[in-house]
Amino acid sequence: MTDTATRPSIPAERFGQRLEAAARIAGERGLGALLIGVGPDLRYLTGYAAMPLERLTMLVVRPAGRLIMIVPRLEKDPAGRSPAVAGGFVEVVTWEETEDPHRLVAAAVAGGSESGRRAVGVNDTLWASHVLRLQAELSGVRFERGSTVTRELRMTKDPEEIELLRQAAQAADRVVDQIAAGRLVGRTEADIARETRDRLAAEGHESPDFAIVASGPNAASPHHEASDRVIRAGEPIVLDIGGVREGYSSDTTRTLWPTGGDPSRAPDAEFTRAFDVLRRAQAAATAAVRPGVAAETIDSAARRTIDEAGFGPNFIHRTGHGIGLEVHEDPYLVAGNAEPLRQGTAFSVEPGIYVAGRWGMRLEDIVVCGADGPDVLNRSSLDLRVVDGV
Ligand code: ZN
Ligand code: ZN
Ligand code: ZN
Repeated sequence: MTDTATRPSIPAERFGQRLEAAARIAGERGLGALLIGVGPDLRYLTGYAAMPLERLTMLVVRPAGRLIMIVPRLEKDPAGRSPAVAGGFVEVVTWEETEDPHRLVAAAVAGGSESGRRAVGVNDTLWASHVLRLQAELSGVRFERGSTVTRELRMTKDPEEIELLRQAAQAADRVVDQIAAGRLVGRTEADIARETRDRLAAEGHESPDFAIVASGPNAASPHHEASDRVIRAGEPIVLDIGGVREGYSSDTTRTLWPTGGDPSRAPDAEFTRAFDVLRRAQAAATAAVRPGVAAETIDSAARRTIDEAGFGPNFIHRTGHGIGLEVHEDPYLVAGNAEPLRQGTAFSVEPGIYVAGRWGMRLEDIVVCGADGPDVLNRSSLDLRVVDGV
């Protein structure tokens, strides 16, 4: 509910278009209403970044009829300032502390179409406490995942969203470059993670959510938690950082190698060769991006390069994930996901090679599927960052 959260870098009409599309798709799916509580779907459709509290806030999108957002009376003002409400696309209905908001939602659904009494969609992250009470009020109504409607909208980013993702990506790039240029040797992973978070905030992130700093053998664990391990010269560091900036997520990984200024501590032939494979795998996956290509094809492009070099068993995760209002969202770049990429789909391309107990490496860019190829949002060098680190 900060000003940043409701700053209309996305024009109000855009929310009108999204709401219209959501209502249309809900109708096509036979849903009488889409019930959207606090979370990324609400933010996507209305621009309202409400606080996740126990009091119910709920957007009710019906295929026909006016769109309403039921909010606690005390949150009337922030809800009213959201672009969708201020733009006149959604009407706010408030409830008093003594009222039952779930009953209000049920009344709105029952007052809608015939199909509304058969099925509704609820956002995937709606708390069970709300779902169970809504189900009690709407007995006989089938509840479905609202993401069947919202995922296809959110997966295709509009130009303003791509710009926000680009700005977030490049803010994170600057932090990577700052960390790579600073002192690394003799400091703990946790200390560098702290500095990373501070720098992400200084680069405009309202939530500098994560800083994976995985050094030496810890680099073999893709989601390593930054620890008290002291970084030494002559070992790799996987730096995977990101957060949320103006509502949109950043997520980038680079691999560093501090030598302590000692040339004999430079990466050995085995590591250098593996890094070259990784770099080519990341490039092959990125180059395969274009509309109509299956998500799993991007994964196999990276995997084939790594397999052929004999590191297949060392690439232990999917190649990437969608990104937007959430750091991990649809689509997932994984074998078995034949869903075609569309122009405007945004995702990470992040292959890695991990040798348990010894070392690891990963490279991650955020890529948008452009009309005829990849639009890579990150700008910082993908090279192995061999630095002094002192
Ligand atoms: Zn992850
Ligand atoms: Zn990452
Ligand atoms: Zn990622």
